[in-house]
Amino acid sequence: MFLVDEWIGIEILSALPGFEEFDKDILEAVLEEAGKFCSTEVLPINRDGDEHGAVFADGVVTTPPGFKAAYQKFIENGWTSIDAEPAHGGQGLPKLVSYLIDEMLGATNLAFKLYAELSHGAYHLLAAHASEEIRAVYLPKLVEGVWSGTMCLTEPHCGTDLGLLTTKASPNDDGSYAISGTKIFITSGDHDLTENILHLVIARIDGAPDGSRGISLFLVPKFLLNKDSSPGERNHVNTASIEHKMGIKGSATCVLNFDDAKGYLIGEKNHGLAAMFRMMNLERITIGFQGLGFAEIASQNALVYATERLQSKAPAPRPNEGKPADPIIFQPEIKRKLLAMRAQIEGGRALAIFTACQTDVADKSTDEQQREEAANTLALLTPVVKSFLSDLGVSSTLSAQQVLGGHGYVREHGMEQMVRDSRITQIYEGTNEIQAADLVLRKLTGKTGQFADSLFERWQQMLDEQEDAGDMGPFAPAASAALARLREATAWIRAADGGAARGAACDYQRLFALTSIACLWSQIIASIRGKDGEFYATKRKTARFYMDQVLPETVALHEIVMRGADSLSAFSVEDFGQ
Ligand SMILES: Cc1cc2nc3c(=O)[nH]c(=O)nc-3n(C[C@H](O)[C@H](O)[C@H](O)COP(=O)(O)OP(=O)(O)OC[C@H]3O[C@@H](n4cnc5c(N)ncnc54)[C@H](O)[C@@H]3O)c2cc1C
Repeated sequence: MFLVDEWIGIEILSALPGFEEFDKDILEAVLEEAGKFCSTEVLPINRDGDEHGAVFADGVVTTPPGFKAAYQKFIENGWTSIDAEPAHGGQGLPKLVSYLIDEMLGATNLAFKLYAELSHGAYHLLAAHASEEIRAVYLPKLVEGVWSGTMCLTEPHCGTDLGLLTTKASPNDDGSYAISGTKIFITSGDHDLTENILHLVIARIDGAPDGSRGISLFLVPKFLLNKDSSPGERNHVNTASIEHKMGIKGSATCVLNFDDAKGYLIGEKNHGLAAMFRMMNLERITIGFQGLGFAEIASQNALVYATERLQSKAPAPRPNEGKPADPIIFQPEIKRKLLAMRAQIEGGRALAIFTACQTDVADKSTDEQQREEAANTLALLTPVVKSFLSDLGVSSTLSAQQVLGGHGYVREHGMEQMVRDSRITQIYEGTNEIQAADLVLRKLTGKTGQFADSLFERWQQMLDEQEDAGDMGPFAPAASAALARLREATAWIRAADGGAARGAACDYQRLFALTSIACLWSQIIASIRGKDGEFYATKRKTARFYMDQVLPETVALHEIVMRGADSLSAFSVEDFGQ
């Protein structure tokens, strides 16, 4: 609420057409209810989901105990309809609201969340690219949550490089297509929660060009529809197996065989990837929020544990003077871990919210310039949000596990499940290496590249003004120094050849994220100028720790990027055999 209401300002959303009624009270009420639902219905089945997992037997997938009942309540309470258009039965709230709920769902039970997650992406994809006829029939059911969606991209030999796909589509006489091929790793590819499952499948139409220019997109329902639009005959899509995974065991990750399954073309022939990117880009921000959720719940649990666990004597002055031990939170290294998590989580949430708001502005604003700026911000920051926050989710669950010592390693406290469950966020929806390559190879060039320069310039001006005002303590100078490093590294990346730039991509991406967050922290601190009280004082102390103890990592990252790729290329692939 602080970030949306006091920092960004809710007007950025309520000024958009369709959101005129949206205000602080609505946001607060929705978040309160979402928090309650996640704590009372979603969190309690998290452990069972991990222990029982999704089960595949006799060709049928069964979700873990409790998932069906919770999903029923989930849809009855309208959580699948938050940001859908009222014309399709949705609540018409901003996407930002949905993203904020993503954080809570990700924190409390990612495996459960995933059954509805791709329905949300499928809804937005179909709303943007399907024919009126398809929208009218399928969208209300997705919004109601009684049908769900999937995203079918990956094949055994084709993961990151979708141009390698071999699933084929042959035209049928009635205008539909016969889809044949095998898709693997399909989240919620089959389950027992909904009456129908809508697969969004990419495939190559007979005779289409090789590579990513020959990819088309199809809607392939699990059950074909009767004349009255109810689910009827079973389509030729079968589940071959489900994966046995490190984490999110309650989520069914399926191998699906399409054997002349009936599919309907979505969008234009051979332009399927562009349409798919509507879903993937929204998903990438969602995954950032999932990572944030893991970081948040891990740090909350570690904080409680560190406050209660009595072990060793703390440095003087001891809180439990005269007693054998103090709470471990008084051990400076433990306190540091907790504060490092907090400073990055709060700053990371600011970055995520700043980016997520742009989704609504880019979709809804009537001002063309504002729409374009929002679209550029989104294009630039989406890979940063996805990768930084998923990395933060994993590093924070590990850090929190360390705070619990051996009790974090055993199952009892749930921390080891968090470590395992969070790990997927760095891999799916485009690995973090792919996000980094997207940032350095595409987003720093052309229109988005020009926008990046103007964003850096605006941040610089803001920091200069803050420094001139003289009341920003260490914040603006620290952020300013990091921004200078980022700009220098950006120039290096642009001048480097493709191979060298790609070798530095992940380090550059982290430098970008840590620096952006420093700029946003400075903006936040300036926005609470003159405000008294513990809440604001704590914000200043948290920001101070970020600038003082987290941001210096950018010195090393800048150095690594600027040193170039000579030592990397001097070591040949054959040298690994020596
Ligand atoms: C639990 C789970 C759920 C999933 N859900 C879905 C789903 O619903 N739908 C779906 O279609 N897919 C899904 N996936 C697939 C997921 O998106 C892919 O696993 C991911 O895109 C990577 O593909 P890959 O596993 O084939 O790895 P590869 O593409 O083989 O990559 C292997 C390694 O090489 C790196 N690499 C590859 N190319 C490059 C490059 N150009 N630059 C730098 N590094 C590179 C990767 O980063 C990675 O580290 C899911 C996967 C899992 C495990």
